[in-house]
Amino acid sequence: MEIIRADAAGFCSGVKRAVKMAEEVAVAGRRSEQRPVLVYTLGPIVHNRLVVNHLAEQGIKGVESLEELLEKNSPDTECQLIIRTHGVGPGVIQKAKDRGIKIIDATCPLVKRVQRLAGDLIAEGFDVIIIGDRCHPEVIGILDWTHGQGRVISSVEEAQAIPYGTRLGIICQTTQTEHTFQEISAILHEKAREVRAYNTICPATRERQEAARSLVKKVESMVVIGGFDSANTRKLVQLCADSAKPTYQVETASQLDPTWFKGIQRVGVTAGASTPDWIIEEVVNKMLEFDQESTVTQEMEDESLKAATEVDQGENTEFSPSSSENQEIEEGGVQDSFEAREEENEVVETLEEQLTRDMPDLRPGTVTVGKIVQVRDDEVLVDVGGKSEGIIPLKELSVRNLTTAREVVEVGDEIEVYVVRAENDEGTMILSKRRADQIKAWVDLEAAFESGQEMAGEVVQVVKGGLLVDVGVRGFVPASLIERGYVSNLDVYLGKVLRLRIIDLDRNKNKVVLSQKVILEEEYEKAREELWATIEAGQQRPGIVRRLTTFGAFVDVGGADGLLHISEMSWIHINHPSEVVQENDEIEVYVLAVDKEKQRISLGLKQIIPSPWEKAAEKYQIGEIVSGKVVRTVPFGAFVQIEPGVEGLVHISQLAPYRVERTEDVVNAGDEIQVKVIDFKPHEQRMSLSLSKAREELEAAEQQEIVDAYQAEQTEAEDPMVVGE
Ligand code: SF4
Repeated sequence: MEIIRADAAGFCSGVKRAVKMAEEVAVAGRRSEQRPVLVYTLGPIVHNRLVVNHLAEQGIKGVESLEELLEKNSPDTECQLIIRTHGVGPGVIQKAKDRGIKIIDATCPLVKRVQRLAGDLIAEGFDVIIIGDRCHPEVIGILDWTHGQGRVISSVEEAQAIPYGTRLGIICQTTQTEHTFQEISAILHEKAREVRAYNTICPATRERQEAARSLVKKVESMVVIGGFDSANTRKLVQLCADSAKPTYQVETASQLDPTWFKGIQRVGVTAGASTPDWIIEEVVNKMLEFDQESTVTQEMEDESLKAATEVDQGENTEFSPSSSENQEIEEGGVQDSFEAREEENEVVETLEEQLTRDMPDLRPGTVTVGKIVQVRDDEVLVDVGGKSEGIIPLKELSVRNLTTAREVVEVGDEIEVYVVRAENDEGTMILSKRRADQIKAWVDLEAAFESGQEMAGEVVQVVKGGLLVDVGVRGFVPASLIERGYVSNLDVYLGKVLRLRIIDLDRNKNKVVLSQKVILEEEYEKAREELWATIEAGQQRPGIVRRLTTFGAFVDVGGADGLLHISEMSWIHINHPSEVVQENDEIEVYVLAVDKEKQRISLGLKQIIPSPWEKAAEKYQIGEIVSGKVVRTVPFGAFVQIEPGVEGLVHISQLAPYRVERTEDVVNAGDEIQVKVIDFKPHEQRMSLSLSKAREELEAAEQQEIVDAYQAEQTEAEDPMVVGE
């Protein structure tokens, strides 16, 4: 069996430092020539029973609470309290100091950094979200640095439930997994106008997780060494178990079961950050005993982890029960050791600085500016500076459904991008323009919602019950809120730009509901007020035909509907308004009358087109014989239409040269006749006609023609020369 040790496992620099400080304090306490020194830790100094037992043997005891420690404190002894790597809140330290207890602060510098960030964010007015386990002492301490104002969450569901805020500061427990931070951080980034996120996962934690993740792929089973109450060890166990490989956690070598390794060719070994090397050695040696032919190898170091590992290698402090028991501390040795700790502290701080300096804007969840260097149909390559490039997949380009990336970007464009993943499985950074746009859009939408500002949105999709519009994110316009009236066909809006106002916005639910109707209604109301203040009879106004009835049409004249009666539509007789206008026609109308009290407007259309009588005045003269059609007969005569809109009366006395009893004895409706104009008053729209005179003149003319023709024939017969010519 080949036993492969993870290239990063066991004690981290923070734990090494804390244990070393505790050992030195214990030795110094034993050598004190003044009052007896009692040294305590608030809770176990690390989550490892064996390490705690070892320190207890040196006189360092654990207490569960500050109150328990205060009870033990007496004037006859000097009481010292070691703050463990997880740290505590400022209240605990102050309370202990007030009671004369000396504080030995072994809080890991990386945890201190998180505490400092928590306090700074609160001071700057951010709502602080701590991603972590709310029962873990590190998180309890960090929360205390926010004066209890921070909020602890540990799941995607809790992140989704966070209400939308103005400024959000995100930090996380140092032992969280990268995946958890990225997943929750991505959700929180859409929860506030301004988000400041700090990936405070400790490099040692990340390094051990990465090493375990790498190793588990190469072996058939894993052994994880560490305390059962150690958060980072549990994370390693979970990470290995997620790979579906058998994973066993042990605290000591005695817990190993030889049956776990039957038939196994390759087994991996890793350990939590609170596991000392000597326990790892014991476990590996025990595994070797199970199979005498076993070999031990070290997993190859990953280049990306080198810097962090070098820090560990640079620390020459090794912990083992024997080394601490046997060490001799010279005069001033404690002081020297504390100086060494300060140097070590600086090393950790340097690592921290490097972490923040090297990845300023490219951590998942951040937004940065990039330049497009290549556009393909299905993705875009973006230079985000610092010799880094990332890919925007097609679906991350826009809220719209695109068929090619070329629809929205081109090479050379500078755009804002959201870092989705620092690296995918192929080592490529994944970016999103859509999410960066959405983050910005939500800020604008929130402001627009508060101010009621109008915005433009293109209709990108027709869905059941309404339209989807592009307003930076996808907004919904219900069908009933598109126009002032009923909309029967939504398809006509596709691709059109609507004027919109947000009427409901819930960033948590990713919901934006907009209305165009509310803008149109307001404008209509305003126009209505103006209309009633200015409209007068005799005006000519533009209007839109809204509705047709059998008796006319209702025309919107910009704030109110007026009635255009059928009789006022045309100079000629019509049977239905649709012969003249159609719904939605834009027409000019004449205001016939206005009743502001009853809010009624009477409109005319024929008044603004030339009257046929005006034209007739130029065409017809008295004495002229014209053709016409009998349109109706009455007892006193017959009405004859000379042309559309121009009718004249043939009085019964003008029907024939004799006395006529009934009009119908001479003419009937529909007869085409010729009449003589005997009187014409166009301005009164009156024309008097005579059928008898027209017939008389026409017959006389006809007879004259016959006579003229006869005489011409006679002349030709009497003068043969004329014929012979
Ligand atoms: S923060 Fe990291 S380095 Fe510090 S104690 Fe925890 S695991 Fe160790």
